[in-house]
Amino acid sequence: MAMRGRAAVLDQPNGAFVVDEAEVPDPDQNGLLVRQELCGICATDTYVYRGGLPGVTFPLVLGHETVGVVERLGANVGEDSTGRPLAAGDRVYIQPGMSCRQCVYCVVYRQPTLCLKRRGYGFHPFKDQPPHFQGGYSEYLALAPGSTYLQMNADAANSVVLEPLTIGLHQISRVEMPVGATAVIQGAGAIGILTLVAAKEAGALRTIVLGAPDSRLDLARAFGADMTISIEEVPDSAERVRLVREETPGGFGADVVFECTGVPSSIPEGIDMLRRGGTYVEAGHYTDHGEVALNPFRHMVHKQITLVAVWGADTPHFVAGRALIESGKYPFADLVSHRLPLERAGDGVAAIGGTYRIDGEEIRKVAIAGHEG
Ligand SMILES: [Zn+2]
Ligand SMILES: [Zn+2]
Repeated sequence: MAMRGRAAVLDQPNGAFVVDEAEVPDPDQNGLLVRQELCGICATDTYVYRGGLPGVTFPLVLGHETVGVVERLGANVGEDSTGRPLAAGDRVYIQPGMSCRQCVYCVVYRQPTLCLKRRGYGFHPFKDQPPHFQGGYSEYLALAPGSTYLQMNADAANSVVLEPLTIGLHQISRVEMPVGATAVIQGAGAIGILTLVAAKEAGALRTIVLGAPDSRLDLARAFGADMTISIEEVPDSAERVRLVREETPGGFGADVVFECTGVPSSIPEGIDMLRRGGTYVEAGHYTDHGEVALNPFRHMVHKQITLVAVWGADTPHFVAGRALIESGKYPFADLVSHRLPLERAGDGVAAIGGTYRIDGEEIRKVAIAGHEG
């Protein structure tokens, strides 16, 4: 009898997640069938939920931070995308973004995350097929030929943060980070803490994290932040700038500041924390949160800043992130505060989208557990 699986299907923007059952397809000879273990809920999911991302069609199964176990391999598949042997029962992480490796952005400009034909698991990549097994809020993922997946020698709870970690690693790959640098991370959410990891690995000697609530700042220190500043205790922006600058060599300001809040007003504040000639990295606005006023003379030209932004991540960032997770050097699993069954996908998206609570408890990262839940 054909195998059936369940998925939390979102019918329309701002709609309802309905757990629906469908027949699980057999993998193509170059494809892979993965049994989902955990899929992180991302702030981007809440944006897609509201219908904010162009090109996404409904009904939709969200979820682009998926780790699972190989259920069945296509006849021609014997290794992962990095050449590691792969067999049924092995844990794999699915790289959500698929670039065509043929268009001008892939081949000439060499920025495959800007691929003109880019599609992604969790964003209904194959519109001509039912959505059930094309996103991580599901029991299975049916991977098409050409997909990228990495065998993981780590447990699911540590592995699940790989995709958000790649956002930090992609930023770092575009930044000149002098060894011994002072780095500031604005924001103590998952992206802020994983960017902290990337900054430390890239050579930042002194790291300062700003955010709230205190539980997240505690976690930032557990991940190695040298100093944290609570935006609840220090609500005044000018005072936060003063506190940061006072901690930098000569009081000149930080070498690199990473914006991981998604709050537009943090951008002029963060640039004020930067030394002249420093680098400002914009990483928090994966969704449209509106505009902010900048003074081009004061914030840019006179400071001679470098401004860096990144969109998504590519396979090299996944390979680097996997090595960090497998090293056991950081307590990645501590980021995940809640695991929800498919039936509670709506609660998870609402929490990440702004309530920041589930059953009255403060959340950090929330994951959908297709089989574990
Ligand atoms: Zn994400
Ligand atoms: Zn392309």
